[in-house]
Amino acid sequence: MFDTLSDRLTSVLQNLRGKGKLSDADIDATAREIRIALLEADVALPVVREFIAQIKQRAKGAEVSAALNPAQQVVKIVNEELVAILGGETRRLNLAKTPPTVIMLAGLQGSGKTTLAGKLATWLKKQGHTPLLVACDLQRPNAVTQLQVVGERAGVPTFAPEPGNGVGDPVDVARRAIDESRRAQHDVVVVDTAGRLGVDEELMRQAADIRDAVQPDETLFVVDAMIGQDAVTTAEAFRDGVGFTGVVLTKLDGDARGGAALSVRQVTGQPILFASNGEKLEDFDAFHPDRMAGRILG
Ligand code: GDP
Repeated sequence: MFDTLSDRLTSVLQNLRGKGKLSDADIDATAREIRIALLEADVALPVVREFIAQIKQRAKGAEVSAALNPAQQVVKIVNEELVAILGGETRRLNLAKTPPTVIMLAGLQGSGKTTLAGKLATWLKKQGHTPLLVACDLQRPNAVTQLQVVGERAGVPTFAPEPGNGVGDPVDVARRAIDESRRAQHDVVVVDTAGRLGVDEELMRQAADIRDAVQPDETLFVVDAMIGQDAVTTAEAFRDGVGFTGVVLTKLDGDARGGAALSVRQVTGQPILFASNGEKLEDFDAFHPDRMAGRILG
């Protein structure tokens, strides 16, 4: 995903190698190149501005260091600022003091929510949890079956409305699922909700109703990293319409330019908790800002 950005940044920073001392003009020229690389990678403009301002300020004020030459110092600053825009520390999943922990998934149709439900269930099981998946996407034909299939692959039960009872009410399903989790001692409940192809008010209202009914410990906004700049507007719409406590980036294995991944934390103020990088249940892990920054800087 970050190949182009990574190549550009590496070559910009390599140009500094061998310089004994960096003038302000050197730093300005480097900052300009970094700015272009980030904009070309589709990073949101306010995020780029803030990033560049930090780089310039820190690089110009950098102390002469015995351990690092000027070029290495700039690399270090760029790395630290990348980690910062990606969220700094790894943020762990919030677990409820009294089980069940309720995790609600929200996002556009096709963002990878259902797949993520299976990945998250697999990951939770590995950590010793006993998750229950809940099918609250009752809009899209097949969504319930798709979740059940994913659940079977993950070896985790799925709570779904009984077939033949009409479309059903997702809020009612969500409530009954929480009761079921207490009865059957599932300590984590993962609620899959309906997504539309675009942001729409009814979708937001339904997700907000489910949220009010189940009081999630985490509401995760699931976003396809391939959708570029649209990721930021979609994230803002979900923040305002439903609210969320964390972000999951999906399809990081794709060849998009990566700007979404680099913007979403800063723009929404919410941390990225997990990243998905493939269609298999195992293609998933907790998100580590430092590792991602390391990957980008090569
Ligand atoms: P939903 O509509 O939000 O529930 O999205 P789905 O879970 O049905 O995913 C939509 C499509 O994206 C499916 O074809 C998935 O296999 C695919 N998908 C989901 N996550 C990833 C990922 O991390 N990488 C890739 N390459 N494909 C993914």
